[in-house]
Amino acid sequence: MHSPCLTKGHGTGSVDVLQAQCSLRDSQADITAAGTPTLLRITFLGTSSSRPTVRRNVSALAVQREGTLFLFDCGEGTQRQMMRFGVGFGVSEIFITHLHADHYLGLPGLLRTMSLQGREEELVVWGGAGSEAALRDAIDIGGDRLQFPVVVRGLPSAEAVRYAGYAIHAFPVEHTAASIGLALVEDVRLGRFDVEAARRLGVPEGPMFGRLHRGEDVRLDDGTVVGAANVVGSARPGRTLVYSGDTRPCGTTIAAARGCDLLIHEATFTEEEAVRSRDTRHSTAKEAAEVAREAGVRKLLLTHFSARYSEQPHRILREAETVFPAVAAEDGMTIEVPFLGDDPSGGDS
Ligand SMILES: [Zn+2]
Ligand SMILES: [Zn+2]
Repeated sequence: MHSPCLTKGHGTGSVDVLQAQCSLRDSQADITAAGTPTLLRITFLGTSSSRPTVRRNVSALAVQREGTLFLFDCGEGTQRQMMRFGVGFGVSEIFITHLHADHYLGLPGLLRTMSLQGREEELVVWGGAGSEAALRDAIDIGGDRLQFPVVVRGLPSAEAVRYAGYAIHAFPVEHTAASIGLALVEDVRLGRFDVEAARRLGVPEGPMFGRLHRGEDVRLDDGTVVGAANVVGSARPGRTLVYSGDTRPCGTTIAAARGCDLLIHEATFTEEEAVRSRDTRHSTAKEAAEVAREAGVRKLLLTHFSARYSEQPHRILREAETVFPAVAAEDGMTIEVPFLGDDPSGGDS
């Protein structure tokens, strides 16, 4: 269904060709499923930094886009969190932001469970460029052979993996280990198709709907020409979801998150520990909020809290909100990312 291919940056020739193909498929999907926008849902599986607490597990984020499930990071114990929060094990691809234990030690256990459950489908594990050997070692811990193929791939920062209708981009961030942030960027969508208007103009349901939606004028059996502009609105932006991984506040995150629908930024400390935050190359709540304000994001979610804030996320939140409105993530929190203008409430649950 999704056949990923690596592409460089935004807007290269190969991307454009693929985008054209994807748009075609999407336009057909839009019409058959009119009124049911494509699902983009995230579930926080772990919101603690470095070590788990009673209330929070270490980092992992489930990202579901329509029928495809990704994990962004996979800290120890992620598989139990997936069971607890009903995420399911039908993961296609796992992206690891960096090789700190709290972000990838969950791989061997999760993959072993998938194997015991009889998985046969290939799984792709992406890490930053140069992390492939360490990821392979982690996956092979335990000795017994997995019953399904696992492909490990390096994803250089500033490159992207393409899927039908969207891409996942890596961008470099600033941490003590080589580390990437991740951005899921949907393609621009075709304009809204006005089914009622098309019917009123006498267009029969079927292939002509698709041609009109893609911008073609069509000629009806009686010779009347119906212009696409009469039934299709202007192109609409897709959604963008950005995950900072572990990082100091940095310009690359701001650039990736500019105007995005949802920024998930780490906020390991508060300003009380600003020195420690700098020394360990993390962000304070205030710094994360400043990144969000600078980037003009629609919504900010904070995560990756030091254990001392595990039971007191309001301390993180209070500090962030002196700069920008924010939500402190909790394990099990699920957010559906709405299309701009579709749901002004934000669609949280
Ligand atoms: Zn971490
Ligand atoms: Zn780290």
